[in-house]
Amino acid sequence: MPHVDGAGVRARACRSRAASLAALGMLGMVGLLGTFGTIGCAAAERGEEARDAAEPIRAAPNASGAAANASGVAANASGAAANASAPARDEQGRASSEGDSDVRITISAVGDCALGDLAGVAGEGSFTAELAKHADPIAYPFARVRALFAADDLTIANLEGTLTNHDGRANPVFAIRGKPEWAEMLAQGSVELVNLANNHSHDFGFVGHEDTKRALDRAKVGRFGHGVVDRREVRGVTVVNLGYLGGPQGTQARVVRDVAREAKPGTIVVVSFHWGIEGSHATAPDQQRLGRAAIDAGASLVLGHHPHVLQGIETYRDRHIVYSLGNFVFGAHSQPADMDSLVFQETFHVRDGKVHAVAERRVPVRISSSTRRNDFRPTLLEGDEAARVLDKVAKFSASIPAS
Ligand SMILES: [Zn+2]
Repeated sequence: MPHVDGAGVRARACRSRAASLAALGMLGMVGLLGTFGTIGCAAAERGEEARDAAEPIRAAPNASGAAANASGVAANASGAAANASAPARDEQGRASSEGDSDVRITISAVGDCALGDLAGVAGEGSFTAELAKHADPIAYPFARVRALFAADDLTIANLEGTLTNHDGRANPVFAIRGKPEWAEMLAQGSVELVNLANNHSHDFGFVGHEDTKRALDRAKVGRFGHGVVDRREVRGVTVVNLGYLGGPQGTQARVVRDVAREAKPGTIVVVSFHWGIEGSHATAPDQQRLGRAAIDAGASLVLGHHPHVLQGIETYRDRHIVYSLGNFVFGAHSQPADMDSLVFQETFHVRDGKVHAVAERRVPVRISSSTRRNDFRPTLLEGDEAARVLDKVAKFSASIPAS
């Protein structure tokens, strides 16, 4: 069995960080830390949020353009899953019977993607070592989900970590870094858009973050969060993505202000939150408060990540709040205890200036093609395993307070 030395590798990045700090006597209650990240993470978050508050929201340079085709991956990828997810359309991609103002758009969402190694970890079991075993390392991580993503209109992930060659590590406990050229993994995997509002975006400081943004821009992968909003036209419909850290004070006021500004008639507004308690399947009250506030302000869909495990899905005012999507391509952890994940798909029907969520699909996934370790290649589940994951999500969903 492959191994990676160091207990930290086996533990989830931020949670372990909290545990390490606790072990060092720097902190008494790990549980407190766990809410919305850790002390060290929170420091980075405060800096970011201060910057958010100071800067007007701006469009990312790559925000416009043909979102669905940004990856250059042909939409004719084979696979039953992909075919099943594709809504019926004519050549223009519009719903065939009801005219120009009537469009169906399918958005897919996945959780934490760490396209790199934990700093200080190398050798057997690491992301880098796994890639070296494969003839096409860029295509490898998303190889088994690419067909599904190529068949939708937009795929959104959380990019947890950095893509940089910079050595100036700024996160002393857990720092995630991959090569800038690995941004192309997202493009080839038909992931068009990533959230950068998370506690690992500055693991290699300002330089690492700038490098990451440049790498994504070069690969034509969109990005949002930390004050950047992604606005794009998808088959004639404006889709807006906003991303926030859940923890910092004032987040709710910013979310409500931003969503209210963006939620024009006929616009799909997707809000991503990096929030919750690491390792917890239970939805924290603050998650529910923020998620519902975003919907109340006009959001069409709320996506969550950071716990590294699945949480429930709430239907609130006919919108979905997906509290935690778990991990996805997660290079920073070679032996996670829980490898269950989900692709969440929502189909919106946009008609006469109104956005209706008309179909929801939960596609169960194991984050690895191996059951014995994480080989960083998410794989669609079938049969009993798929049913088990769906049951689990249904159970978590049922435990979310109704009010
Ligand atoms: Zn996180």
